[in-house]
Amino acid sequence: MRSEMLRDPVLSRPRPRAVTPYKKSLAEWLYLPLFGGLMVTLRHFVRNLIKGPRYTIEYPEKRRDYSHRFRGHHILTSRPDGSLRCVACFLCATACPADCIKIESGEHPDVNIEKYPVVYEIDMLRCVFCGYCVDACPEEAIIMSNNYDMAYFHRDQSKVGKNDLMKPYTFDPSQLGYRPHYPEEDAQRAKMRREAFNLVQAAREAGATEVAS
Ligand code: SF4
Ligand code: SF4
Repeated sequence: MRSEMLRDPVLSRPRPRAVTPYKKSLAEWLYLPLFGGLMVTLRHFVRNLIKGPRYTIEYPEKRRDYSHRFRGHHILTSRPDGSLRCVACFLCATACPADCIKIESGEHPDVNIEKYPVVYEIDMLRCVFCGYCVDACPEEAIIMSNNYDMAYFHRDQSKVGKNDLMKPYTFDPSQLGYRPHYPEEDAQRAKMRREAFNLVQAAREAGATEVAS
């Protein structure tokens, strides 16, 4: 074993017994590596000056197109009558690893719908945009958009409530981001939602007729 070690050019080298201070080369004393780095910057600067900006997106006039699965600002979806689809089941808040969803539930005035969120807030500065809330929601009540305009002047502004989460512009299909999206099931899901809503509507009408009689 010892003979093998002695034959190995690396292992046979004497081990250092003392700390040797690093010795700078002449080029390092003259800061030449620094000029090498500056030359790279200069090369990009001159190339961009001659050919125009190539790697810069002139935000906000121009915007980068992200994948349709981009995880941006959340959207709370609504039923056909405009009410929130959320039933305040707390599954999203439970799944959230950043603990940034605050929900206060209330009894829905419609007996056919058990609960609704009186308060629904997401703290965008704590959110890590993992999409777990979207995955956890059984109602497809929360999805994500492509919107990444999230700048706040004050810490409190980062807590967005129901009104911000339901902003109509986010319903533009081109603005939609991460959501439980399975194309082959889309039509079936839409049909199921329509039927479920029709059931609620029928129950409401039946209740109204009963009260009237
Ligand atoms: S995206 Fe993730 S961190 Fe953000 S609210 Fe949803 S579960 Fe929480
Ligand atoms: S999981 Fe969906 S339905 Fe349940 S509280 Fe969250 S958003 Fe509402």
